[in-house]
Amino acid sequence: SLNERELSVSCSVGVALYPQHGSMSALITHAGVAMRAAKSAGGSTYAVFDARMEVDTRDQAELLRDLRMALARSQMELFYQPKIHAPSAQVTGVEALLRWHHPQRGTISPNIFIPMAERSGLINALGAWVIDEACRQARVWRDEGLRMRVAINLSAHQLRQRDLPQRIAEALRKHQINPDLLTCEITESVAMEDTDATLRVFTELAAVGVHISIDDFGSGYSSLAYLRKLPAGELKIDRSFVRDLEHSEEARKIASAVVQLAQALKLKVVAEGVETDEQYQILRQFGCDELQGFLFAKPMSAKALAQWAMGNEGPRSILFRDSLFHGTREMAL
Ligand code: C2E
Ligand code: MG
Ligand code: MG
Repeated sequence: SLNERELSVSCSVGVALYPQHGSMSALITHAGVAMRAAKSAGGSTYAVFDARMEVDTRDQAELLRDLRMALARSQMELFYQPKIHAPSAQVTGVEALLRWHHPQRGTISPNIFIPMAERSGLINALGAWVIDEACRQARVWRDEGLRMRVAINLSAHQLRQRDLPQRIAEALRKHQINPDLLTCEITESVAMEDTDATLRVFTELAAVGVHISIDDFGSGYSSLAYLRKLPAGELKIDRSFVRDLEHSEEARKIASAVVQLAQALKLKVVAEGVETDEQYQILRQFGCDELQGFLFAKPMSAKALAQWAMGNEGPRSILFRDSLFHGTREMAL
């Protein structure tokens, strides 16, 4: 009990045994390595040291070294996953998802390198590149007559940068993109972290004219009073609920409650990770506005997206929403 509040503490344990796991001098280090393995497995558990764990640590150091060079070596690319208008199944925009094409290891998931970039401070450069690249691509689409809405993901560290809103405004100006076409996705857990600071940044972002979306909603703990105050326009239901829709009554109830909550707060609601037709039908019935998932399209390069759009390849034929094409000439930006 701390300041009259109940705090729950959990603990992760790393085990190293003498002599099988090393000499006396290495034992504590190895226990630490095992403890970190326990933490990265989700925490609240224990792990016994294994030599492969140490390779992992060394691996991490190597990967971090490569990550420092990745931008300069043009190994980063934005993939785009279509967002689908639920009632009509037409494309309304895309979410930009970062990919790292490592020369030896192949394509590496952002789930691996974004946390590394956050810990090492590289996220600022990486984040700035994502903002610029997404706007550049939006401009290319615009020049081709497509007013494609683009969503980017912002990390916790980026949100703490005082000049983030100005930087976004500058990128939009540089590429002459209407702010209305850009959405910033921020995960619920990050949005709820430092509520005063978040509210300030969100307000500044809203003043720039971009849309704000709360990502992975349902995975963290939201204060509903605070959520009401946030100038966000969209909630994205966390994938874990979508995954369990067909089999779990509870997941259905939560997803349906999130949709109703969003509607009460006048927020648009998006479901991500839609993989089956049954999930699609359930979400559409609940009243989800937009859907995203492998059922419609996987994240793909801008070039692949253009081909996909032209050829209408994929599990179902998908049309781009008319509104994306409107105003190509009349709008100044
Ligand atoms: P997110 O923003 O929640 O993105 C959704 C993730 O779900 C993406 O993973 C996407 O590829 C995946 N996904 C989409 N549809 C399906 C589906 O039907 N089934 C399954 N199983 N997965 C699906 P991805 O691209 O690996 O990105 C993971 C996370 O990394 C993102 O989660 C986002 O939080 C973060 N991330 C990606 N790009 C960036 C970036 O440019 N900046 C920052 N800060 N974070 C990023
Ligand atoms: Mg996202
Ligand atoms: Mg998400």
